[in-house]
Amino acid sequence: MLKLLLNARVFAPEPLGLRHLLIAGGKVVWIGTERPALPAALGASVTDLDGRRLIPGLVDAHVHLTGGGGEAGPETKVPPLPLSRFTRGGVTSVVALLGTDDATRHPRELVTAVQGLRNEGLSAWCWTAGYHIPPVTITGSVRGDIAAIDCIIGAKTAISDHRSSQPSRDELLRLASEAHVGGLMTGKAGLVHLHVGDGARGLAPIREALEGSELPARVFNPTHVNRKKALFDEAIALARQGCHVDITAFPVSEGEDAWPAEVALVRYLDSGAPSERVSVSSDGGGCLPEFDADGRVVRMGVGDPGDLARTLAALLAAGQPPERVLPAFTRNPARLLRLAGKGHIAVGADADLVALDANGGIEDVMANGVWHVTGGRVVARGTFEHAEARA
Ligand SMILES: [Zn+2]
Repeated sequence: MLKLLLNARVFAPEPLGLRHLLIAGGKVVWIGTERPALPAALGASVTDLDGRRLIPGLVDAHVHLTGGGGEAGPETKVPPLPLSRFTRGGVTSVVALLGTDDATRHPRELVTAVQGLRNEGLSAWCWTAGYHIPPVTITGSVRGDIAAIDCIIGAKTAISDHRSSQPSRDELLRLASEAHVGGLMTGKAGLVHLHVGDGARGLAPIREALEGSELPARVFNPTHVNRKKALFDEAIALARQGCHVDITAFPVSEGEDAWPAEVALVRYLDSGAPSERVSVSSDGGGCLPEFDADGRVVRMGVGDPGDLARTLAALLAAGQPPERVLPAFTRNPARLLRLAGKGHIAVGADADLVALDANGGIEDVMANGVWHVTGGRVVARGTFEHAEARA
């Protein structure tokens, strides 16, 4: 049960230099420069990282764990994501959610999927409700869901999108107040995670909500803000007002009016906006539909939790210092979402650790002190993944 990691170049995310780490009970219990002399009777397993970079496990705050989609008919509902889709991408903490389909999918299903992922060794939470207002909840209210259900930390909704409920300012405020008060009652994040669509209103609904209420700016957490270049400028301005903005690591084609996540993050950091108010999420398991002017789907892809690691590798390959870009994948979302013990490497923190290869790719992944990926190979599979491998 005891694991000793030797010669790790630790980015916590701040650079700590070459360190040895001792892991026990799912936690980092010691970090030092001298190799500790452990009694053989303890039977510690030893892994020498040979100076490779060791970073915190990635925190992905936007994942369609039960599968998203369904926007072009029932056959387009995306299947659920198995455990190793996260771990092989270095993701050790996820926040699951519903999207357009909050009619045939339900927060009850999300909560059980979160519990399943926890039983398989990952750390997981969820947002209640989906795109629509009145919100779909388990207890009858967003506040009740946050107060009564351990893994629910806030609510999801959608703005500036033809798939949203076209919420009025007051509807948005009511939802945000429910999340905020639920957060106050529990010490959880208590946020509204807002899917922002392609619509021309952009982030105006959030600005209007802030102007029209006493709610703190941090309660409004817009995502997909890099999907249009003008929207991204709005997001940087909103971050200066106190909102935490979330970039999506979706693929961007040549000439598209969008910023790839790796470009968006550097633009954000270069802008001088508060560096702790930005994160990157994957939209894993979400379908990525492209609509024509009549709102019909013309093309469809599926988001992958591995896009986070690909974005990080692209940033490192472009010469960005790990300590500059890592917080957006680790410490920033963990702090915003109040995920204690997540997003950083320290004595007492959870042992969610990722060792990178020389190219910045994912080589070894530990979640809560257990190896899930070693040498680039998945060693811990989800309940039905063995069956899939045989098929
Ligand atoms: Zn999504």
